[in-house]
Amino acid sequence: MYIRIIPIGNIPRKILEALSTELSEILNSRVKILDSVKVPHDAYNHWRKQYDAKKIIQNLSELSQTKFIDKSMPLLYVIDEDIYFSGLNFIFGLEDPIQGACIISITRLRNEFYDLKPNLSILIERSVKEAIHELGHFMGLEHCSHPFCVMCFSPSVGDIDRKQKDFCRDCKYKLSLKGYKIE
Ligand SMILES: [Zn+2]
Ligand SMILES: [Zn+2]
Repeated sequence: MYIRIIPIGNIPRKILEALSTELSEILNSRVKILDSVKVPHDAYNHWRKQYDAKKIIQNLSELSQTKFIDKSMPLLYVIDEDIYFSGLNFIFGLEDPIQGACIISITRLRNEFYDLKPNLSILIERSVKEAIHELGHFMGLEHCSHPFCVMCFSPSVGDIDRKQKDFCRDCKYKLSLKGYKIE
């Protein structure tokens, strides 16, 4: 795969670089960090005080005219705003198969969101796991019942911390059947 990471607004460089390194290694992919884009304010829901993740992806994909589906070239948006998807209070990330893009929000991955001491390495670990999880969906994987697999559904940061940043053997096998070479 060739993954393009697009920061939305201001994202710490260390997080982007860690994502780049880890994604290229774990997903056996080429990764490029593109220039940051502005937060699309029309995706903001004033009533919820959150951004609509699907709208963000749609707006940005239209702007960058990257609207073509190529199963080997996902976009990964990284934002530091609280995001939601209809029917859910919040989400850590989302994959949009129509736009060929994924988004993760680091806002709720931060310790300080839960009134805990900020910790960059924990934030990086969580961001990497969420990015790999969403890209796993992009590659066609569903949620996995193995508790340590990165494709395990994680509704809280505690759940994210418990799992690994890698796919279990079953998920790796499924990826190989889909033509992805993940070691
Ligand atoms: Zn998921
Ligand atoms: Zn799995």
